Amino acid sequence: MAKCIAVNCGSSSIKYKLYEMPEEKVICSGQVERIGHEDGIFSIKFNGQARKEILPIMDHAVGVELILKALVEMNIIASFDEIKAVGHRVVQGGKYFSKSVIFDDYCEEKVAELIPLDPLHAPAHLTGFHAFKKALPNAVAIAVFDTAFHQTMEAEDYVFPIPYEYTEKYACRRYGAHGTSHNYLAIKAKEDYLKDVDDERIISCHIGSGSSLAAIRGGKCVATTMGLTPLGGVMMGTRTGDMDPSVMDYLSTCTGKDVHVLYDEFNKKSGFLGVSGKSNDTRDIESGAAEGDERCILAANLFARRVADFIGSYFVRLGGADLILFSAGIGENSGWFRKLIIDRISDALGIVLDEEANNSRGEKVISAPNSKIKVVVIPTDEEVMIARDCYKALEGTL
Ligand code: ADP
Repeated sequence: MAKCIAVNCGSSSIKYKLYEMPEEKVICSGQVERIGHEDGIFSIKFNGQARKEILPIMDHAVGVELILKALVEMNIIASFDEIKAVGHRVVQGGKYFSKSVIFDDYCEEKVAELIPLDPLHAPAHLTGFHAFKKALPNAVAIAVFDTAFHQTMEAEDYVFPIPYEYTEKYACRRYGAHGTSHNYLAIKAKEDYLKDVDDERIISCHIGSGSSLAAIRGGKCVATTMGLTPLGGVMMGTRTGDMDPSVMDYLSTCTGKDVHVLYDEFNKKSGFLGVSGKSNDTRDIESGAAEGDERCILAANLFARRVADFIGSYFVRLGGADLILFSAGIGENSGWFRKLIIDRISDALGIVLDEEANNSRGEKVISAPNSKIKVVVIPTDEEVMIARDCYKALEGTL
């Protein structure tokens, strides 16, 4: 038995979950938010209790200290040494990492080298890594990459049709994201629904505030929707997803705005927020649509159309599908959005929705018995994947 902590260090936050492994028992979880502010927020959930404090948290090191101090004060651990491994979520692993690795000097060097591909998260991952390393010098540290699962894609699925020298010189290609989630979902789907199917073909729809789909065959990623960065693919809460690249040049000419400003708008002011003019949260879009708000209806339909089109494309890419799965914030919680998507693929793929199941909660099959393809909802769990890899590192089998 060993305690392992899965952490996700963002530029101003640290999310964490402490596990007892290999039992996969969640001991506690929480987050540190507003790092760099006088009114930072520290929270922890343990044994049904929730504790929250507002206090100055000027850097990540202070955040890490708060987490560890709380673990001891609340008698969750007797000493820091009890935490044997720290698993860091890292968004971008580029072409270097196709699986989780020990966070050693080489890994650190490569994560730093990849900063231009992920300027938002990579520096924060490194800051978080150093803060934990200082506080827990004896714990094994590993890096778990969002991109790793997608490294099995073939060139025709990841090369962009740009001058090839850019692909080579600048490593400009599709990397995808949400790989840890798609990997977890593919494993869970196989265990729960596809035990007897060889070389199973899964279309995985991780749709939340960030959304991506993956075409998975025999547990390996064949294709995914996100691109060089998480801006690609389907439309999202605030991101555009795929568009004609000339939109950038045209809007820059029309508005006089610099491409960096527009790029920021494509990331933070587009998607559901941009189209609806109301909200990036699909709960607001759903209620807006129910009240007849035309822009909310348009935003919802646009999203459903894009997800449906990718499902169709992946059905062809995989030569059929044994299972379509929905997960993440929208996929797990919104029967309304799932139906909106399924209505757009049901005729072509012979899918029959079980409306009652679709309107209930939790992991379940939402297709009717006479549906040609089984459709399921599976809650994702990226943290447990990180904890599993931590334990493998401790056992020497990573
Ligand atoms: P993240 O990408 O930040 O991990 P999540 O996967 O948790 O996000 O998704 C959060 C999003 O899921 C919310 O912004 C909201 O759009 C959507 N969502 C969550 N619950 C519901 C719900 N009950 N109905 C519709 N949409 C929901």
